[in-house]
Amino acid sequence: MNHPIYNFSAGPAVLPHSVLEQVQADLVNWQGSGMSVMEMSHRGPEFMGIMAEAEQDLRDLLAIPVNYKVLFLQGGATLQFAMVPLNLLRGKTKASYVQTGVWSKKAISEARRFCTVEIAASNEDRHGSYVPAQSTWQVSPDTAYVHIAGNETIGGVEYDFVPELGDIPLVSDASSHILSKPMDVSRFGLIYAGAQKNVGPAGLTLVIVREDLLGHAPAHTPTMLDYAIQAKDDSMHNTPPTFAIYVAGLVFKWLKALGGLEKMAEINARKAQRLYDLIDSSGFYRNPVEVRNRSRMNVPFTLPDPALDEAFLKGAKAHGLLQLKGHRSVGGMRASIYNAMPEAGVAALADYMAAFARSHS
Ligand code: PMP
Repeated sequence: MNHPIYNFSAGPAVLPHSVLEQVQADLVNWQGSGMSVMEMSHRGPEFMGIMAEAEQDLRDLLAIPVNYKVLFLQGGATLQFAMVPLNLLRGKTKASYVQTGVWSKKAISEARRFCTVEIAASNEDRHGSYVPAQSTWQVSPDTAYVHIAGNETIGGVEYDFVPELGDIPLVSDASSHILSKPMDVSRFGLIYAGAQKNVGPAGLTLVIVREDLLGHAPAHTPTMLDYAIQAKDDSMHNTPPTFAIYVAGLVFKWLKALGGLEKMAEINARKAQRLYDLIDSSGFYRNPVEVRNRSRMNVPFTLPDPALDEAFLKGAKAHGLLQLKGHRSVGGMRASIYNAMPEAGVAALADYMAAFARSHS
């Protein structure tokens, strides 16, 4: 193959190449310890050091205030759909959800197992193509929290504002945009993210939670699902996903070396702009999302005729551009351009898309 390979998977997704090389170098003998990280006791000094550094680097990157706990959990973002209501209802019977696409809907249906869900707003009136302005939301004062999906990975719809809710805790599923730009953690009660997009390998889930929200889970809550217990035991109530935490730690160091999240945000804005400009000026490709809510991470687009999809994907593959097929529920294409996707990868995709449009118009 003459081309470098660029992987546009929505997740598990591309990791920084230098991180993979570091993992390779460390694989059988981590820093002269004679052990792979996979073989280390999670309570031994080597791994405890790796985990403490990972947490500190994450805290530095996101400027996480001291009154927030960082938890390294398992079960994916999907388990958080249950853990959030279990822990945050705090004796209330109602929670509010903003419905903006597939992932917020999944969070809503899981929450319905635990409480009455109030849909504060929905974008279904315009086919899921925007984030409803906060002025249109209906939030009851007795609600336990408001949940949003900060970036809808399938629809490619991203918030362009942080809702202001006074004393009501704001919860965000940040699975597909965490660490893509600075985030004011203090505006949120809880942030969660499956790791397999911008953080590291699948198997790790990050939770960042304000301390005063801990300790309110009902008595029957399974031990592993109680944030307070996970926090008290420093995410070591049982064996944590050690290898995934180690790789995530390397990703955090890569981000710091790059210049942190402000720098990452600049690069991500350029990457996304390049694709959306090409789509909008092509007269061929189409992205239906309102401009201000276009995701900087997941760029879905359609061709003028679905009959062209197969030829597009085949040609893309021949150019080393992989995993561009859209989610099975929506069809079309989707280019996921997470932090680790280099600008050269986006440029290669844009060039291929332009050439394909020219030869099929
Ligand atoms: N929320 C969002 C926004 C996602 O993109 C995904 C995964 N694609 C999930 C939740 C579910 O994550 P997991 O597979 O880690 O449970």
